[in-house]
Amino acid sequence: MKGNIFNIQKFCTHDGEGIRTTVFLKGCPMACKWCHNPESISPLPVMAFYKSKCQACGRCKTVCEYGAIKDDFQFDREKCVQCGKCIDKCLVSAREKFGYEASVDEILEQVMKDKIFYDNSHGGVTFSGGEPTFQIDFLLALVKKSKELGLNVDIETNSFTSYENMKSIAPYIDCFLMDVKIVDDEKHKYWTGVSNKIILDNIRKLSDELGKDILIRVPLIPGINNSEKDLTLLADFVNSLKNKHKVELLNYHEIGISKYDACGMDYELRDTKPVESIKDAIEFLRNKGVEMENE
Ligand code: SF4
Ligand code: SF4
Repeated sequence: MKGNIFNIQKFCTHDGEGIRTTVFLKGCPMACKWCHNPESISPLPVMAFYKSKCQACGRCKTVCEYGAIKDDFQFDREKCVQCGKCIDKCLVSAREKFGYEASVDEILEQVMKDKIFYDNSHGGVTFSGGEPTFQIDFLLALVKKSKELGLNVDIETNSFTSYENMKSIAPYIDCFLMDVKIVDDEKHKYWTGVSNKIILDNIRKLSDELGKDILIRVPLIPGINNSEKDLTLLADFVNSLKNKHKVELLNYHEIGISKYDACGMDYELRDTKPVESIKDAIEFLRNKGVEMENE
């Protein structure tokens, strides 16, 4: 079985316990305005052009048979068929294609190369995205095979999928890293494009009904979900679960912005700046009785 992925990243230490390989699957049903992996949202490959790297040599234009490179060397995305010839021709890596097809065996062959590091660090494989459940059949095949190979398996998910899907993969997952972006549903709809009802329901059921190991992760976006009211709602939700689960706050950063430009996408939060420290928010949640993953 084949699926669409856009990266296999080795030696990750922030996507679960120990040293891990993270496999990034393409496609996401949400549209968070701060997404730092915009190239992952479309289930299809995305072409990127880094204007700041371009030397205007024109080599790419000479090989494009579809007239898909404009005079300023930007892509004409209507005409581009993603053949990749311009990428090979560019000497300064100003062009890139995000996304390719890979089989379960091809991916896990890569993952298994670092098995010794996982074994020595309690690490393993993490499936991320995009949203990995967006390709649920492919994900199910990946996690099943990973378990057959004796791997520790985590999933990093926004949980915007049916509970049936969650239940189908649950027996093969050691830890669910589940995002909670905003607990207030009206705000959630505005900033992510969807209601959070299904997300919070999934977390509650995986915790209360299946007793799964869950780490709740919250990207803290200044001015959007870091107010005392937002943090109080978050604490109330976490404290209402039958089982105790740690929360990890992730500080907002601007690393993804250049990818929006390169992929020809709009980024609405250009004026949002990272805060120097999220220590106050961590302490606020601790004082509300929330167990924190952050130090
Ligand atoms: S990927 Fe192919 S079709 Fe698209 S711009 Fe490059 S050479 Fe042209
Ligand atoms: S080949 Fe690379 S450096 Fe040259 S014009 Fe094309 S994108 Fe720019």
